[in-house]
Amino acid sequence: MRQYNIELEPHRLPDHWYNIAPDMPGSMDPPLHPGTMQPLNPDDLAAIFPMGLIQQEMSTEPQIAIPGEVMDIYRLYRPTPLRRAYRLEEALETPAHIYYKNESVAPSGSHKINTAIAQAYYNKAEGISSMSTETGAGQWGTALSIACQMFGIACQVYMVRVSYDQKPYRRALIQTYGGNIMPSPSDTTDSGRAFLKDDPNTTGSLGMAISEAVEVAAKSEGATKYGLGSVLNHVLLHQTVIGEEALLQMAKVDEYPDVVIGCCGGGSNLAGIAFPYYGDAKRNGRSIEFIAVEPTSCPTLTRGHYAYDFGDTAKITPLLKQYTLGHNFMPPGIHAGGLRYHGVASQVAHLVREKAFKAVAVPQNPVFEACVLFARTEGIVPAPETGHAIRAAVDEALKCRDSGEAKTILFNLSGHGHFDMSAYEAYLSGKLTDIELDDAVLDAAEAMIPQVSV
Ligand SMILES: *Cc1c(COP(=O)(O)O)cnc(C)c1O
Repeated sequence: MRQYNIELEPHRLPDHWYNIAPDMPGSMDPPLHPGTMQPLNPDDLAAIFPMGLIQQEMSTEPQIAIPGEVMDIYRLYRPTPLRRAYRLEEALETPAHIYYKNESVAPSGSHKINTAIAQAYYNKAEGISSMSTETGAGQWGTALSIACQMFGIACQVYMVRVSYDQKPYRRALIQTYGGNIMPSPSDTTDSGRAFLKDDPNTTGSLGMAISEAVEVAAKSEGATKYGLGSVLNHVLLHQTVIGEEALLQMAKVDEYPDVVIGCCGGGSNLAGIAFPYYGDAKRNGRSIEFIAVEPTSCPTLTRGHYAYDFGDTAKITPLLKQYTLGHNFMPPGIHAGGLRYHGVASQVAHLVREKAFKAVAVPQNPVFEACVLFARTEGIVPAPETGHAIRAAVDEALKCRDSGEAKTILFNLSGHGHFDMSAYEAYLSGKLTDIELDDAVLDAAEAMIPQVSV
């Protein structure tokens, strides 16, 4: 009998997060203060984040214990299943073994709640009763709303205008969980008013929404703190519970991946599945191919510039060394909102720079083709973001079909697509276009990247 689901006994839920910092190859460039352009001090972040998270952001401890209260909430949906995609393998006629970690079973429908719970916990622990954040496609706003609700924290969500208008059910979901939602740019912040003055009809962007949410926290005199759904070290850290579980589950069926794949927006779900394997492979002298998958319409890792840049449009956030398309890059309106970000986590960028991770870009029609194949074989309708990882997994499996190699492929199923059916509808009726950006567009955005000499 086939073992489709590789479950992990609840008592084996990992009790620590894996910190990649001490295992990083080479040395990393520090984050810089946006005003002085000097390396950031922990205190510089204290206006917007609680100390517990700032310490994690800068930690070099190899592991960080998951607090009991966070473990209790993780147990509502963790350990998540690891599944062997036998039916997908058959459809592809591949000798490869394809496994996926199913984060779509989380209450928010995606991996983002793994860090939302931790962030709400550390805020609550320091007496914070209000958080602000941004959301693009809506998954992060959903996740933080649930987590804040669980800890009795008010949650103010700035939602990119285009998503706010196009995704009324996602909006209602956030409100159901108690989040207070505002389309961005809004007239409630200085940066929002400035963006609207520039262009009253702007559809907004993640970079603008971040400016608004950060401003709210920065001007609140400690009453409100800010939460970010990806990019920062502490966010990636919290997601490593995914890979820590996967290590235990894969070992149960005596498998070790040759290839580990994640879609990459800010880099958190990729880091979640890949970083623990990176550390494990390093300790045990094994070799794994890690693949970050992004859209051709927002090709941060494959065509971006490796440089210091801001995380937001109004240049309020610290400067991070990263691959960037420029902090005021406006990505085309593709249907994977979670991957439409101009930058990427420093840690992921560094690993790509060091050639420890590989990056590929895929257009949206082949992504949806893989999504539909996956839905019809495995029964789960994936988020369009996740479809990027599935596309790459399918391509790897097809290479194995041609070469006869039986590689073991593991990818992260970062979320389901139940709120993205209009995107599926557009694909199924042949209305999606594939977007390759002109060099001129990228050059113009790149010209905005600040000149930094440290
Ligand atoms: C937000 C999101 C992503 C992209 O963000 P990362 O930080 O790169 O993981 C991918 N998949 C889903 C389902 C998301 O919600």
